[in-house]
Amino acid sequence: MIDELPEPTPDLDSQPFWDGLAAGELRLQCCTRCGTLRWPARAICDRCASFDAEWVACSGRGVVSSWIRTHQVFAPAFRDRVPYVVVRIALEERPGIRMIGGWQGGRDPVVGEAVVARFAPRPGGSVVLDWAPDSDEAGAAKSNASGAPTAD
Ligand SMILES: [Zn+2]
Repeated sequence: MIDELPEPTPDLDSQPFWDGLAAGELRLQCCTRCGTLRWPARAICDRCASFDAEWVACSGRGVVSSWIRTHQVFAPAFRDRVPYVVVRIALEERPGIRMIGGWQGGRDPVVGEAVVARFAPRPGGSVVLDWAPDSDEAGAAKSNASGAPTAD
């Protein structure tokens, strides 16, 4: 049906990432030679050019580095969902990794605020990555009177 939400299309490199989301974990490739996390998944390390890697569970924590509100209906399945927010997250383990995901904040995100991964099941059976404010950090964020984002 044309109004169904699009399902992920895992490939050989990304299948473990999608399996991780289905298991409630944010898993990334980690180079077994130099320890660098890789995103998106790929065959070769961007730091040392090694082909060797393993999949590791990450904390699922990060900070908002940017966000947008989408008003345009790019696919019929999103017709009743606009406007919606998409966030770009800098991961705690490697802030240079920026991941895109949906937003479950119930309000606008704030650049620099702490967030946690949320695993959002789709009607078709897959699980996609969303993000939500980190409730453990809520008190700390309120005490930041300037509201300014912190440096990576
Ligand atoms: Zn490496």
